[in-house]
Amino acid sequence: MCACCGTRPGVVAAFGPTGVSTGFTDLHLWADPHGTSLCEPCAANYRNPVLRQEPHWTADRVTWHPADRAWLRATLAAPLDRVGVTIPVRRRKHVWHHTQLGAVGYDDGTITWGDTEAAAYRLCVTLRAAGLSEAGLTEPDLRFTDLRAAVDRATVLDLWQQWRATTANRLDLQQIAVRASRPPLEAP
Ligand SMILES: [Zn+2]
Repeated sequence: MCACCGTRPGVVAAFGPTGVSTGFTDLHLWADPHGTSLCEPCAANYRNPVLRQEPHWTADRVTWHPADRAWLRATLAAPLDRVGVTIPVRRRKHVWHHTQLGAVGYDDGTITWGDTEAAAYRLCVTLRAAGLSEAGLTEPDLRFTDLRAAVDRATVLDLWQQWRATTANRLDLQQIAVRASRPPLEAP
């Protein structure tokens, strides 16, 4: 059986060119940490570099689709139900294999995406639209330059306080929200 998913026959070597590198550190997440073979879908996911660099979504944890910026904005604004989403923040680690449906997987784990997380994400998107910088959103205090540039300072201050109240002790949620709230690219 596949060492990773444990549900399909293992058909290729788990380590080396067909699977993961020998330095892979997430073996404890596998169905069989001592397994030596992977099924083709799991192996293909590990071989796909884009999967650990850009956001993706899945409905079955086997097939992963690119999640563009507009899709993320529409989807993460509400609790996740039937899909799982990956948001690689540092773009160095495999994140798909620990991502569950109804949750967002990132570099260091998975967080269930419920009402609180969706609300934090909506605040993040609104604050960005109001002119707050990506770096400013991860700092403990509102940047004076960001506030000065805002059209409606009172509203921005209020939203900022809500954002901090939700995410100050949840840096994972903060990072994911900021990373996933980049404005959709202009059509060429
Ligand atoms: Zn598998």
